[in-house]
Amino acid sequence: MLAIPKEAEEIISQLESYGYEAYLVGGCVRDLLMGLTAKDFDICTSALPEDVIRLFTKTYKTGLKHGTVTVIKNGIPFDVSTFRIDMKYTDHRRPDKVLFTPSLTEDLKRRDFTINAICYHPKKGIIDPFNGIKDITGRLIRTVGNPEERFGEDALRMLRAVRFKASLGFEIEPATKNAVCRMAGTICHISRERILYELNGILSGISPEAFEVLFDTGIINYIFPVPVPLKYTFKPLKSLPGKLSLRWAAAVRLMGFTDTNEVKEICNYLKMSKKLKDYILNVTDILKKPLPENKFVLKKALSDTGIALFSDSLEILRALGSDTNKAKAVKMMINDIYSNNECVSRSALAVKGRDLIEKGFVPGKQLGEIIELLFLCVLQIPELNHKDTLIEIAENIQKAFSA
Ligand code: ATP
Ligand code: MG
Repeated sequence: MLAIPKEAEEIISQLESYGYEAYLVGGCVRDLLMGLTAKDFDICTSALPEDVIRLFTKTYKTGLKHGTVTVIKNGIPFDVSTFRIDMKYTDHRRPDKVLFTPSLTEDLKRRDFTINAICYHPKKGIIDPFNGIKDITGRLIRTVGNPEERFGEDALRMLRAVRFKASLGFEIEPATKNAVCRMAGTICHISRERILYELNGILSGISPEAFEVLFDTGIINYIFPVPVPLKYTFKPLKSLPGKLSLRWAAAVRLMGFTDTNEVKEICNYLKMSKKLKDYILNVTDILKKPLPENKFVLKKALSDTGIALFSDSLEILRALGSDTNKAKAVKMMINDIYSNNECVSRSALAVKGRDLIEKGFVPGKQLGEIIELLFLCVLQIPELNHKDTLIEIAENIQKAFSA
């Protein structure tokens, strides 16, 4: 017995009461069999989309062309899809036409991997014509049917295979992997948005080192706009927290990219968000420079980049095992700076421009320069960060300026 929401059971029995067949299918069955939490629940049925719309009170026409209707029960969405056969693929991504069928086995046959082609029925139990359970037990990703044909129909499946390897920690079955090697070039038919989605899934998985498979199979040559300088092991990614941006920055480093323009080109090519792109560029920049040797230089760097980016960069160095001792020393200095509450940002300076203006300083460029000097003084000697002390220093600097 798999633990499924009562709403899914209700949808299935309602469809059955009208004479249709209905089952849970795909990712949710796979995840539940593995003891994982299912992300969402997909139902497949012999009912046609218009029947589904007619039978339930709240529905959305999600993908009517492909037979999918979303049924909302108690506020929970369930994708209910009509059994279908995908006809002829000419664009290496989507079938030219789908044919609805009364046959559950036909529907399971068009699915990508055996582990994703298992059905579950609350009363009838598991239906598994392609031995998906055997592959879950053997931790294998294997296409349903001939892998070359299946990747020929839809090239995205190749990246999905790598993503499932990363998210489940499985191996790609040898014949399936060989077919990826042979068909790698067809990945050019897939949109960059979809490619990025899958790469994100690979990098944030429990086995992000699966990124290596992109190199082993040659896919990497077709998804980046510039040649990759290094083929490295991506094992270090595993010891990093699951944060996607951090994993991306580490992967960029592991591939040997240091040139800002090249990194920018990759991020733009893959249509990353500005936030992700800026993060990767900033970390790449920090990692390019030598680590600060003393607290003053460190605080100057922290004031430029912010603590979060700098700490993430150190985390990457730790994972990569590079500069280990230096990185450790910098980490200790950072702890020291924060436990002493030392000023590392201009906004934490005890004197503001308006305080100085009140004291008779003239607003303008020179005042800006004076404040910058005060900031450098405080970075050197944290004890100076008091309003009166800084006003006094500012007055002395001004005297020196006008001497
Ligand atoms: P997850 O949601 O955890 O990424 P999933 O297996 O649920 O994994 P979905 O993309 O939600 O993946 O798709 C649901 C199901 O539809 C899959 O389990 C699979 O049976 C089928 N499927 C999805 N994409 C494809 C595809 N490109 N080719 C063939 N079948 C597919
Ligand atoms: Mg899913």
